[in-house]
Amino acid sequence: MEKLEEIQEKAKYCLNCPIKPCSQKGCPLNNNIPGFIKEIKEKNYEKAYEILSETTVLEAICGRICPHQKQCEGSCVRGIKSTPVHIGDLEAFIGDIAIKEKYQISKINNEHKDKKIAIIGGGPAGLTASAFLLKKGYSVTLYEKYNYLGGLLVHGIPEFRLAKEIVKNSIQKIIDLGLEVKYGMELGENLSLNELETKYDAIFLAFGANISTKMGVEGEELDGVYGGNQLLEYKNHPDYTNKKVAIIGGGNVAMDCARTIKRLGAKEVKVIYRRAEEQMPAEVKEIAEAKEEGIEFLFQNNIVKIIGKDKVEKVELIKTELIQKEGETRKVPVNIPNSNYIIDIDYIVMALGSMPEDIVKTLGIELNKWGYIKIDEKNRTSNPKIFAGGDLAGAKGTVAWAARSGRDAANSIIEYLK
Ligand code: SF4
Repeated sequence: MEKLEEIQEKAKYCLNCPIKPCSQKGCPLNNNIPGFIKEIKEKNYEKAYEILSETTVLEAICGRICPHQKQCEGSCVRGIKSTPVHIGDLEAFIGDIAIKEKYQISKINNEHKDKKIAIIGGGPAGLTASAFLLKKGYSVTLYEKYNYLGGLLVHGIPEFRLAKEIVKNSIQKIIDLGLEVKYGMELGENLSLNELETKYDAIFLAFGANISTKMGVEGEELDGVYGGNQLLEYKNHPDYTNKKVAIIGGGNVAMDCARTIKRLGAKEVKVIYRRAEEQMPAEVKEIAEAKEEGIEFLFQNNIVKIIGKDKVEKVELIKTELIQKEGETRKVPVNIPNSNYIIDIDYIVMALGSMPEDIVKTLGIELNKWGYIKIDEKNRTSNPKIFAGGDLAGAKGTVAWAARSGRDAANSIIEYLK
């Protein structure tokens, strides 16, 4: 935890702007940022925690891993002429002090115990939905396929970026609200949606999208091509000693894979991204740290094909230029003719996004054209009793957006049960 004097310095730098662009425009959860920072300035840390708890239950986590430069800090007024307020550090500080001092998430009432809600999946969306339903006094049972909660917070984000202990302690606060958890329960294996429908008043599906998206290029079926999500989740890494590895993609999964693989002993790790550095969805800090750790970046490069007899041996790349096309909000990468070249590579990791597992096709719920569960603006699926959120419903791929979708779903379920 940072020294109190440093935290006070950081808090005093906030201008307490009445229009709150950091909260309204920047923060996916619309946390009351000037509100909680003001309480830090006055050393009312528990009050700061209460303010944050109105909109989030993952402050110790989001304070560390959100892409703040693209969210709250990216909208901070201070950032126009100078550096923005270190909002992430201040949020993490409050999250940490809440764990240390055992501040509780406050319950609003206990009146709805007879209404039972099942939540499938204990990642950020499922946990947040659980917390916001429990706060309002509903009975919540969370079904989780693993023997631990947290989902990608545990198996998707490496320890060097987010300590498991912080995740565990943050989750404990939600369990303490009265959450019933059933571990080792997986839809389609030992859990049936039909059965749940008869037992519960509403269901929230939030079991994520864990299958790495394929590119559809030649050679993708060769041995030595891995999906980034699966690699992080199952940790079934090959021996990287003296090997060259290419990571395809520009998001946090790509960064986490690159940094993890470098730590596991790979000789060379290259991140290949078809757009420019400033267009990378990964956090700026993550990219800088990856560079410091010796990871190379090939910006504005696209894959043409993967080459090898039985396993990956080489990859053919092509350079791209960024062109502003009509109707597009940002420049799009276009391959430059005859700029192809080939490099030697031993392993390739696809980190381009993820899709839900095939089980979603068997649930009798409508999917959208991309294969995610189709939801409306209230997180309702085609079955009125069933709601969905997080990656499973195609939420924007950050923890804060998944949490937002969990909170929205909780509010919609409450509305539905009334
Ligand atoms: Fe403080 Fe920046 Fe938000 Fe203004 S925009 S209230 S300075 S954090």
